[in-house]
This record gives sequence, C-alpha cells and structure tokens, in this order.
Amino acid sequence: MIFRNPAGAPELACDQCGCRWFDRMTNTCYECSAAVTPEMEAEFKQALAEFTAQRNEKGKPA
Ligand SMILES: [Zn+2]
Repeated sequence: MIFRNPAGAPELACDQCGCRWFDRMTNTCYECSAAVTPEMEAEFKQALAEFTAQRNEKGKPA
C-alpha cells in the first residue's frame, strides 16, 4: 500500500502489516518479513513520479 506523509510525499508501506520499514538489502518488511512485490515497487515509483511532477509544477516561478 502507499501512504502519504504530511508533506504529501508517497511512502511505501507493507501490504501485510502496514508498517513503513523495509530492509532495502532484501526488499522485505522489517516487521513481518513480507516481500516487496514488483507491483508494489511499480505503484510506489508511479506515485513518487506523480508527486515530483506536481511539486515541480507548483515550484515554478509565476
Ligand atoms: Zn509487514
């Protein structure tokens, strides 16, 4: 699942337990060891790209 932090930036969270801590070496959840699926990663990258695009749009000088 994808969480939004207070700044609106997406954060990848575990589908199983909802925590946001992952072991980047093995791509598994710290809490329950659920694997990060390619689908989850793709979803997160998409959300991140959208967030970045929106922020760049807002950041443009008028
Ligand atoms: Zn988990």
